[in-house]
Amino acid sequence: MANGEGALEHALRWREELWPGVPVVFAMLDATQLEKLGQPADVTGVVTKNSLTGAIKAARAVMPGLDTIVLVGDSWDRQALFRHWGMEIPAATAGLTVIDLVGQKMSEIRKRVAELPERSAIVYSGVFSDGEGTYYPAATAMEMIAEAANRPIIVGTEALLAAGGIGGYGLIAAEIGADAGRLALRILDGEQAGEIAPVVWEARPLFNWKQMQRWNVSASDLPEGSEIRLREPTFFERYRWQSMAIFATLFLQAGLIAFLLHERHLRRDAEAEARKRMSELAHVNRQTTAGELSSSIAHELNQPLGSILANAETAEMMLKSENPDLAEIGEILADIKRDDQRAGEVIRRLRSYLTRTPFEAKEIDLNLIIGEAFKFLSMQASARNIALYLQTSPGELRIRGDPVQLQQVILNLVVNSMDAMAGLPYGRTVIGRTELNGGSTVEISISDSGPGIPPDKLAHVFDPFFTTKHQGMGIGLSIARTIILAHKGRIWAENQTGGGAAFRFILPLGA
Ligand code: ADP
Repeated sequence: MANGEGALEHALRWREELWPGVPVVFAMLDATQLEKLGQPADVTGVVTKNSLTGAIKAARAVMPGLDTIVLVGDSWDRQALFRHWGMEIPAATAGLTVIDLVGQKMSEIRKRVAELPERSAIVYSGVFSDGEGTYYPAATAMEMIAEAANRPIIVGTEALLAAGGIGGYGLIAAEIGADAGRLALRILDGEQAGEIAPVVWEARPLFNWKQMQRWNVSASDLPEGSEIRLREPTFFERYRWQSMAIFATLFLQAGLIAFLLHERHLRRDAEAEARKRMSELAHVNRQTTAGELSSSIAHELNQPLGSILANAETAEMMLKSENPDLAEIGEILADIKRDDQRAGEVIRRLRSYLTRTPFEAKEIDLNLIIGEAFKFLSMQASARNIALYLQTSPGELRIRGDPVQLQQVILNLVVNSMDAMAGLPYGRTVIGRTELNGGSTVEISISDSGPGIPPDKLAHVFDPFFTTKHQGMGIGLSIARTIILAHKGRIWAENQTGGGAAFRFILPLGA
């Protein structure tokens, strides 16, 4: 296997003496060099084709309006693979100005390539020494020249791309070597070298992506079929897995957010639905309590009605007398009016309590609301022989809430206390209290002197349908809890140390 012109000449000269009868496979030999050798017997190989015309074509592609070509390389007689370029100069460079730096010392080359005219390009055929006794590979020289050059450099082999060449029609050593290897295998398999025609390997347009960026050359400027090498990987190519992981994470996150938004939407719908149901159930519960309270309500109405009747009869009798005392009749009429208003107030309260209203929070004074509820209950309490007390905190207790529903909680708790004490012979007492708790909440308690709640039931009294009464529905406390939760508060039951149950709830204070 002879690589290059020198090796092939050497092998042919000494073959008869050293390796008689051994066939020779060559590579990296230009067609013009092979011609010069005549037609040696038992020899085959890979001939390359790489013309100066190709190099000029590449120069025109990377330098629009090219008018000057700069030749850089060792003197043509010391060249091997590109020696034939020297002969091609007149034909290939027709119409162009040629700056010929061939055979110059490295220092001179570097000086000259630093100040080349605008529309010029360098064609590099290989420098192997600095001309002052230092020798190095052509790629090393190439780097030194590229460092100084102010114009792009056209090269003839793939290996020179990385050294700083912008590109050109290039030979690819690895592929040429592989072709030569295949020829050698055919010979080892029994074919005669002399019968295998040499493989012709034509230079292909290859370009250096980094230099293209530097000289502002785009892929569309290049000859058809050009391969672009040394392309810097894009961010995505370089951090492929990381990028994919980031994208996947973002994607998942977006999906999760969408899912949560959807969930929140569903939850809001469900909450609205639950509030509606609660309002309906609460309405049923209010009707039930009103039913339980109906006898005392009737009593409360009967009282003013009775005194209206008595007053009317008195006034009638007075009018029948000779000298009716008009001033007294006036007072009697005023009494009738007051009693009528009292009865009207009972009906108004009952009506507002029984209206079916959706949950509506507004600024209210809790003391006032609870006071009204206790008034509503007072008749029932005296009918059942129960002492009902209310101790409110001084001043107003401003909270945001639904007055009807909060009154309903109080009513449910007080009626439960009254029920619990039904079996007591005496000492039936219910005490309601409101007090400021810290600065941000208010605590309301309803305590009684009844039997209390068995400790194992304390946790269950708020469960829906938990009841220990014959006629009980077991929804009063469950509704009370739902109402308090809807007001962002909490409610619980406990037994007092001195006996009796106490129900407490806490609500947030308004602004
Ligand atoms: P109901 O009054 O229809 O039974 P509630 O939910 O209002 O439904 O009450 C549930 C149960 O809690 C009652 O049956 C009773 O056993 C218990 N309870 C409620 N309040 C008291 C109280 N003040 N003292 C003792 N037990 C009580």
